[in-house]
Order: sequence, then C-alpha cells, then structure tokens
Amino acid sequence: MGARRSRKGKSIFFRKQEVLSRNLALSEIQRLLNLARKVRHENLELSREYVLLTKKIAMRQRLKIPPHLKKLYCKSCYTPYTSDADVKVRIDYKKRHIRYFCRHCKHIRRIPYVKRHIRKESTRK
Ligand SMILES: [Zn+2]
Repeated sequence: MGARRSRKGKSIFFRKQEVLSRNLALSEIQRLLNLARKVRHENLELSREYVLLTKKIAMRQRLKIPPHLKKLYCKSCYTPYTSDADVKVRIDYKKRHIRYFCRHCKHIRRIPYVKRHIRKESTRK
C-alpha cells in the first residue's frame, strides 16, 4: 500500500491503465447487481453474496459505487431490493429525505433530497 501513495509522479501509462480497470470494475459491479436481483427469489444467500462482491470490488479499486446503484440494496445485510417484501420506501416531507426501511434487518437508510422549483427553470429558457 505504501507504494501506491506516490501515484502522482508516475508515468501516464499507469494512469491510463488505472482508468481502464476502473471502467471494467464499474461494469462488473453493474453486472453483479443485476445477477443478484435475478437470483433473489431463488436463493437469497447467493444474491447477498453477489452484492457483497460488488462492495469488495469497489473497495479494491478505490471507487465509489454510483448512487443510483447504491439504492438497490441494503447497506447492512446486503439484500438486493426487488419488491415491496424487501423494502419500505417513504418520503419524509418535514425532514426532506427518502427513507429506505429494510424488512430483513430493520436497517433504516435516509437519503436527503433537494426541492427544485421546476416552474422557474422552465421560464428561463
Ligand atoms: Zn437489511
């Protein structure tokens, strides 16, 4: 790990390779999540295993899992959300966040949202 810190001074070749492997990792994460959602109703344990794999890949490549993919599974028990039996989604208007309640481990995840003034934006153009 110590060698990785001096990344800035290295040649462009290394950087290019890094970017390439990042794109590969992202597509792999997407593929694994799709697989997990497919297998969910046949084998819950296996689908959790797939989700855990995506986290490991992201950690290894040091990249963030894109937010639209992060909403697809539980952060604490790694169950992919496929139907209403897995997750309860509610909007809290007062605190301005969306609540994802996992029905398996009862983990609550809150994602804040920003109110947008759509009318003003449309009149500008
Ligand atoms: Zn959970």
